[in-house]
Amino acid sequence: MADKKANVVIIGSGPAGYTAAIYAARANLEPVLISGPQPGGQLTITSDVENFPGFPQGIMGPEMMNLFREQAERFGTRFVDGLVTSVDLGRKPFLVEVDEGREAWNANALIIATGASARWLGIPGEKEYWGRGVSACATCDGFFFKNQEVVVVGGGDSAMEEATFLTKFASRVTVIHRREELRASKIMQEKAKNNPKISFILNSVVSRVVGNEQGVTGVVVKNLHTGEEAEIRCDGFFVAIGHDPNTAIVKGQLPLDEAGYIKVHPGTTKTDIPGVFACGDAMDPIYRQAITAAGTGCMAALDAERYLEHWVDER
Ligand code: NAP
Repeated sequence: MADKKANVVIIGSGPAGYTAAIYAARANLEPVLISGPQPGGQLTITSDVENFPGFPQGIMGPEMMNLFREQAERFGTRFVDGLVTSVDLGRKPFLVEVDEGREAWNANALIIATGASARWLGIPGEKEYWGRGVSACATCDGFFFKNQEVVVVGGGDSAMEEATFLTKFASRVTVIHRREELRASKIMQEKAKNNPKISFILNSVVSRVVGNEQGVTGVVVKNLHTGEEAEIRCDGFFVAIGHDPNTAIVKGQLPLDEAGYIKVHPGTTKTDIPGVFACGDAMDPIYRQAITAAGTGCMAALDAERYLEHWVDER
């Protein structure tokens, strides 16, 4: 099959990718957006989004992503449903292969908006009660646990941050960590330890999430020293064991930080390869919000537009 040509190819269909598409399309760059394995991204597995400005009554994550898509479509974005299985950034135009060669695109500029995926424990009940008490995002879902009891698993900064944030709503937060020492920075540990609503269960793992038709009712905790198991009552279970940026396709071609996030030049979305831009959670280990992803998506489209103004001269 002959390769197709595009001025701008955007990989990823979360807030970053769609916003990049809206801006690129409105700049007449005729972007092509390749949607990836989970069209709409992480927000399609969230329920109510109440912190995205412009939706005072909140909006369901999947509905919001449909609106983003409609807006990108309205200005002429072309959509390709498929998974980018490889990119070649060592040549120009860049080559983007979809579904193991089912389709290939030559892109004058490339915007990588592949997002990140929350790590999961893979224990029984975790998937079953997903969205019914099981969550990987306290910022998104904490509000639903007013005066309820929640468990957070993890010992890093994310777990401390989530636990501390959850005390705004929950009556009691229990952090469960698999070792004696927490991985989190001292300052975040202290903050959590000094919070009277937070208690810790160490050297323990959650082996099962239990519940009923209404949702989560508890978790089974196993002490790794004694092997004993006990059920703890809770209404919410937050998994905070980290996120992995979805950057495997550019590994070895673009500089990544230790955790795999794409490195960009400060204050821009430019990578080390001129014409390749990165936005959203694939390059943001800190904020990871829909609104910040949308913001960097906009920046990537503007950076790409400026790059393309000079691209003809570079050939
Ligand atoms: P992280 O530092 O990798 O910590 C992950 C935690 O989850 C660790 O305590 C780890 O246990 C535990 N864990 C991993 N897999 C597990 C499993 N299968 N079962 C049970 N526990 C498991 O990830 P993070 O907390 O998301 O932080 C990522 C980066 O973002 C860090 O550099 C962090 O400093 C940064 N961050 C900063 C802030 C802030 O400054 N405000 C907030 C959030 C994140 P072990 O300790 O035993 O490995």
